[in-house]
Amino acid sequence: AEAALRQAQKMETVGQLTGGVAHDFNNLLQVVTGNLDILQRNLPPEQPRLARAADAAMQGAQRAAMLTQRLLAFSRRQPLAPERIDPNRLIAGMSDMLHRSLGETISVEILPSARTWPVEIDANQLENALLNLAINARDAMPEGGKLTIETANTHLDAHYAARDSEVAPGQYVVICVSDTGTGMDADTLAHAFEPFFTTKEVGRGTGLGLSMVYGFIRQSGGHVRIYSEPGHGTTVKIYLPRYRGQAHVPEATAAEVAPQGK
Ligand code: ADP
Repeated sequence: AEAALRQAQKMETVGQLTGGVAHDFNNLLQVVTGNLDILQRNLPPEQPRLARAADAAMQGAQRAAMLTQRLLAFSRRQPLAPERIDPNRLIAGMSDMLHRSLGETISVEILPSARTWPVEIDANQLENALLNLAINARDAMPEGGKLTIETANTHLDAHYAARDSEVAPGQYVVICVSDTGTGMDADTLAHAFEPFFTTKEVGRGTGLGLSMVYGFIRQSGGHVRIYSEPGHGTTVKIYLPRYRGQAHVPEATAAEVAPQGK
């Protein structure tokens, strides 16, 4: 529990530092892209080399802006548009895209639990987060394998929450994303959420995928846990608080609540 608290405090501090830099950087990038835009619009047509140079500069600036957005997500300074959604529907809607982006050697299995509670979350960002997890799973299965996405309702009690400073007791929908890939050693696992931590080759990984997922889910009132062992694959569990507003969906009864996972 003490190590978990230290880890949470470290993530908090890194988040504050990163957020400050990312915020200022984002403002400066807007100055760059805004002025490049003016240049692009007013270049004389007889100067194609200048146009190419301006285009290249704009592409670089836009890539930098994308990275900055992920850092803002990690530091929980991202503007979100939460709405009430059915997580099973969102995941089902991603199925085709997942099959396409994972390739033929990886099978995808989606296991929605019956009567999963609704959640209130930014749907685009949740899709983005799940896609990031799927891409990580793909990278961990170069010889092929299986990706499983499972949902369940769960209740985290006060006893459970007391052991983990990031967890508030209550009802959650858990989305488990599992792969049959390489898994992570203890050192990788300890640093996986940190921005810029990557074990991938230069140019292949930015080390911002999991940190973005972490920040976004924390900002949405949930939390993320990773279970992984070398040679035994990886499971990432995303806990999202149950939607508490005016429910149009019938309430699940206690008997239907899935037991809590590992
Ligand atoms: P990136 O994918 O750009 O490296 P991430 O933050 O998404 O950045 O992941 C950080 C590191 O965590 C990865 O480089 C990899 O070592 C490890 N990792 C993430 N997901 C998995 C997975 N599903 N299986 C094995 N290792 C993983």
